[in-house]
Amino acid sequence: AQLSSNQIREAFLAFYEHKAHQRLPSASLVPDDPTIMLTIAGMVPFKPVFMGMAPRQFPRATTSQKCIRTNDIHNVGVTKRHHTFFEMLGNFSFADYFKPHAIQWAWQLLTQVYQIPPQRLAVSVFETDDEAFTIWRDHVGVPAHRIQRMSAQHNFWASGPTGPCGPCSEIYFDFDPLSEQPIHLEDDHRFIELYNLVFMQYQRDAHGNLTPLAAKNIDTGMGLERVAQVLQRVDNNYETDLIKPIIDAVARVANLSYLHATHAQKTSFKVVGDHLRAVSHLVADGVRPSNVGRGYIVRRLLRRVVRHGRLLGIQHAFVAQIVPTVSELAKEAGLTSIHDKIDLVVTELSREEQRFLQTLERGEDRLDQVLHNLRESGTRVIAGEDAFELYDTFGFPLELTEEIAAENDFKIDVERFDRCMAEQRRRARAARDAAEFDVHAVAVLSEAVSKAGSTTFEGYHATLLEES
Ligand code: ATP
Ligand code: MG
Ligand code: MG
Ligand code: MG
Repeated sequence: AQLSSNQIREAFLAFYEHKAHQRLPSASLVPDDPTIMLTIAGMVPFKPVFMGMAPRQFPRATTSQKCIRTNDIHNVGVTKRHHTFFEMLGNFSFADYFKPHAIQWAWQLLTQVYQIPPQRLAVSVFETDDEAFTIWRDHVGVPAHRIQRMSAQHNFWASGPTGPCGPCSEIYFDFDPLSEQPIHLEDDHRFIELYNLVFMQYQRDAHGNLTPLAAKNIDTGMGLERVAQVLQRVDNNYETDLIKPIIDAVARVANLSYLHATHAQKTSFKVVGDHLRAVSHLVADGVRPSNVGRGYIVRRLLRRVVRHGRLLGIQHAFVAQIVPTVSELAKEAGLTSIHDKIDLVVTELSREEQRFLQTLERGEDRLDQVLHNLRESGTRVIAGEDAFELYDTFGFPLELTEEIAAENDFKIDVERFDRCMAEQRRRARAARDAAEFDVHAVAVLSEAVSKAGSTTFEGYHATLLEES
């Protein structure tokens, strides 16, 4: 029988719990650490321990950590394996077990617990990590021709230019194990990276010298959606039981069938499914849509939801209809934060959706017109001034115009756009200087009036200050 994602997660955590790991709940997507924008990996909550800045509370831990990676936003719906929001399963050793255990347990989990045939797996090691190579070949029994040595760019982890660092070893699933071709793990038609084992064994100093750490650590990560793709034998992460129910809910609203959808529509379904998970979890973890930092990530993701919803023919607000499905799935996964704040999540997202729908309605016609004119004149470049007008008058962020442009095979004269922006800022500054002068004048006036016994001007004054 096929494993559900909840069974896959539970099997992982139980496996390591049985090997004396402390099972911990997922931490928030918003890290305690002010230097990190979002939780991008299972190790983030343990960073202080790994960095030697906090004492360990236990020698081993295991988690299923919710993660957000905005650097993969353009891969969403394009590759079969990338999300912005995903769950990373992990086992961690804090100065406890090291390479032999980490490697052998990972293998045991995949081949015995998940029952993936060993000949369908292949592994990578860091190019000079003979120790890991030997463990894989001699202790686990992976044939040498299925172990690939990879460069530092790929298989060496460091949290920064100095500090703890070390080689990695990855485990890949092979979709074509009978192929005569030598393995080439970078080929993502044939292979999918499942599990990454990081061996933190060095300390790097300011000169780049590596000193072996006395206390070596293990940090690992395995994408739940990817394992589910493999074990549930579906074409991509989106068709697993983690995301497909969300896509089905969207398909009902769009009155379309995912199965019979065009390639472009399937991409839109995947974007909507992925991003709705991301924004629901982000809002539940306390992030509000805004123009800066984390808030801007929510805004940007939700705008893409709205746009791809429209590409699916959904003209009206629909997020509120889908969030309950997202919430229910998360709850079954043991992530209850959306469920606990469902009203807040729906209200925040719906308000933002409504706002952006209005923006889109105003700007889309203008952009269509611009594209139409360019097509007539045989140009594929949108003038910086036009992109700027869309930004300034219609509230279209540059990346939105860029995205729509790219879908239609157009580019934007970004350099010219930037110059329009700079010019705009210069004008705004001049206007602000003038406004400050006005406020000052009002303040003087209001003081004079209040001395004369009226309080109404105080309010007027305060409003002006807020707006300036
Ligand atoms: P890839 O090379 O496929 O982009 P990665 O090397 O960037 O993956 P790691 O940083 O090693 O990934 O993260 C550990 C594991 O987390 C990966 O092996 C993978 O299973 C999972 N993972 C990483 N990024 C994503 C993502 N964007 N969506 C889903 N799962 C991911
Ligand atoms: Mg990656
Ligand atoms: Mg990788
Ligand atoms: Mg990796």
